[in-house]
Amino acid sequence: MGNGDDCIFCKIIRGEIPSKKIFEDEQMLAFYDIDPKAPVHFIVIPKRHISNLSETKAGDTEILGSLVFKAQELAAKLGCGENGFRLVINCKSDGGQTVDHLHIHILGGRSLKWPPG
Ligand code: 5GP
Ligand code: ZN
Repeated sequence: MGNGDDCIFCKIIRGEIPSKKIFEDEQMLAFYDIDPKAPVHFIVIPKRHISNLSETKAGDTEILGSLVFKAQELAAKLGCGENGFRLVINCKSDGGQTVDHLHIHILGGRSLKWPPG
């Protein structure tokens, strides 16, 4: 799973790479995606380095729930409460994951197509 030393998102958490932060507490960080795919596109991550969703354990259900709850709270705050939004967790290569630190994408501000490519 690695300790996150060379992980881009761990570097963002440590402040070694700048980011546009939306929310932070002891457990998680939310920040805008550098390459947005929708008018609203931000990412929520646990501060503890977890490589991907497949690496989570039964003991991680509380942090997973907290991340999802915060995602909807921030989506509403950013104006997507009424028309809606989408949460995406890409997992490993077939899932299209490019950064190996568990993250939830929150996309909104336009009508999104289904299914994804
Ligand atoms: P994945 O493809 O792994 O699900 O998503 C990784 C996301 O991280 C991509 O949407 C990409 O734009 C974003 N990203 C990659 N590097 C950085 C960065 O340095 N800063 C920010 N804010 N986002 C990043
Ligand atoms: Zn990491």
